[in-house]
Parts: sequence; structure tokens; C-alpha cells
Amino acid sequence: MLKTYFGSCHCGDVTFAAEIDLAEGSGRCNCSICTKRRAWSVIVKPEDFRLLRGADKLSDYQFGTRSGHHRFCSRCGCAPFGDGHIEEIGGDYVSIAVACLDEVTPEELAAVPVRYSDGRNNAWWDEPREMAYL
Ligand SMILES: [Zn+2]
Repeated sequence: MLKTYFGSCHCGDVTFAAEIDLAEGSGRCNCSICTKRRAWSVIVKPEDFRLLRGADKLSDYQFGTRSGHHRFCSRCGCAPFGDGHIEEIGGDYVSIAVACLDEVTPEELAAVPVRYSDGRNNAWWDEPREMAYL
């Protein structure tokens, strides 16, 4: 069920709201940046995301094909969301860090289905051989 969630970076300078159905599932991935960030994300359409505060505090990191903006708070370093355009997933997207959602109980988080992607081998639709460490 779609629900409005609020989220923030660690210091609170960046806050957002998003319409998310956590039961639809989340993703973990073994690509270079997801591994180093231990990313755990849900994907929403841009119209379901609102940056509430902190546009001036966000830094942007891009690499490779530069199709994604890996945004992070310039004060605390936390990465509450990123955005970009990937044709294969329907174009424009916002990727929200599940760990940055506020007022979500451990029980709710534990119930979120997780899909694993083998981004390291550019095989996003396959599961990696090892997943336990992600
Ligand atoms: Zn911050």
C-alpha cells in the first residue's frame, strides 16, 4: 500500500517525503558504489518524491556513464537519495535509501522484501553468487 514516508540525512539538513509501497520490495546490489555505501534502496518515480529541505546542502557524485546522481549531504555525508535516468527501469527515477526513512519500525523494515542485483557484472536482473555480505 502506498504511504507517505518522511526521511532525512543524519544531521537533518536534508529532508524529503516520498510515496512508497515498501511491500513492493527494495534492492541491494553489489556494484562498486552500492557495495561501498552498503546501499539498500527503493525506487520511486520523481513525481512521488519531494525534497522538503536542503537542496543547497546536497553534493552530487557521478561516475562512469554519469546516468545517476549519487547525492549526499555536504555536512554529514549521509546519502538519503539519488536520482537519474535509466531507460530499462522506465526512465527518470529517484532511488531512496530505506535506512534514511524516519519513523519506520524495525518490524516494518524487517518485512521489506529485498531483491539482490549483480551490478558488479552489469547483470542487474540476476542475483549475485554471494549475497550474505550485502
Ligand atoms: Zn546531513
